[in-house]
Amino acid sequence: RVFENIKKHEKNVNAYITLEKEKALNQARKIDKAIKNGEDPGPLAGVPIGIKDSISTAGMKTTCGSKTLQNYIPPYDAYTVQQIKEAGGIVIGKTNCDEFCMGSTTETSYFGETRNPLNPDLVPGGSSGGSAAAVSYGGASIALGSDTGGSVRCPAAFCSVVGLKPTYGSVSRHGLVAYGSSLDQIGPITQDVKDAALTYDVISGNDPQDPTSNTTKQNHLQNLEPDPDVTLGIPKQLQEGVDPEIKQKTNEKIDKLRDLGAETKRIDIPSLEYALPAYCIISMSEASSNLARYDGVRYGHRSKSNEDWNTEFSKTRAESFGDEVKRRIILGTYALSAGYYDRYYNKALKIRNLLTKEFKQTFKEVDALISPTMPYKPFEIGEKINDPLSLYMGDALNVPVNMVGNPSITIPTNKNEPIGIQIIGDHHQEQKILNIAKAME
Ligand code: GLN
Repeated sequence: RVFENIKKHEKNVNAYITLEKEKALNQARKIDKAIKNGEDPGPLAGVPIGIKDSISTAGMKTTCGSKTLQNYIPPYDAYTVQQIKEAGGIVIGKTNCDEFCMGSTTETSYFGETRNPLNPDLVPGGSSGGSAAAVSYGGASIALGSDTGGSVRCPAAFCSVVGLKPTYGSVSRHGLVAYGSSLDQIGPITQDVKDAALTYDVISGNDPQDPTSNTTKQNHLQNLEPDPDVTLGIPKQLQEGVDPEIKQKTNEKIDKLRDLGAETKRIDIPSLEYALPAYCIISMSEASSNLARYDGVRYGHRSKSNEDWNTEFSKTRAESFGDEVKRRIILGTYALSAGYYDRYYNKALKIRNLLTKEFKQTFKEVDALISPTMPYKPFEIGEKINDPLSLYMGDALNVPVNMVGNPSITIPTNKNEPIGIQIIGDHHQEQKILNIAKAME
């Protein structure tokens, strides 16, 4: 059925960069056979899964939405992909994303933009727009995205599906193409909260290949039960600049939870005001360093200029990176350069520390925080692409949790409505936010 949906919608939506139908069908037959033989093929047996093209898949192209990696085929699976395969999941293809995951609209991909399946004139959000779009139109039952500053949650909200950004370190980044390594985290995009819990259980766990890995496997699915009996904090800074319709829809959702017994209080987290500029500096600085490896020597596109090394290196990168990637490499290099390091990068780190302390303090008073996921609804393709500043501003509600490493889940306010509400938990409190989300679903 998934392939029927793909046939019907893919032309309009462009959620996938690579599809491997034959391989997937073969895999499905193998699993069928295993079941007939009485074997247990795992909790994801036969489930068709889309993987964001920033996550490595052995023998399957992994382009990260970039010309640089357009022909790159990794020799190994990312930890998360390996876990999915071991659980019986079937990787059917690789989903479209903003180039090197830099963006919130999936318009910067070298392979063309993805369109919102709810309305193809609109953006699907980003950067994991292909993953969210595929799950939304039934082109995958589950998808993986990566979230450095909202890239799972923004498209999940815009495509009216569920997205979970786990605690930093709880899902291995082994095999994830690095953008901002201290912020990056892989997370599930699903049709409901139950599938988010199931997928999180499969992909999380300890992995010695990622030095920041810090969790053992747990069973969130088994412990999933609606829990409205909680105290929720509503940070006033995460209400600012939000479209009135989104405020109203998210408030309705919070009111419903209140009727079931939840308490809410407005709270103040002063450093939230500086989270976005600090995120921009840190993510772009890390990106400028992480992307230095694309020199055309070890892998990736290489200029045919055949000149001296410096010229060839510059031409290779000039030819293969898109405008947004170049912009971020330049800004990041500037922020890290001698003379400006203290003024920008170091200050951003101080804000990050303050924010972490304020979050820790807040979680002594509340079980979770709640806010809209995005300040506005999906807009038209092309409408904001030439205004990067306004796109960066749109990340204001999403990036704080990446800065402090906390988990956050977004669920749609209503079925097929492109508005999300996010529930943020303390470190490793995925169970709590899943249970709250379940009560709101
Ligand atoms: N919109 C954010 C950015 O452009 C999202 C990045 C991400 O989470 N990969 O930086």
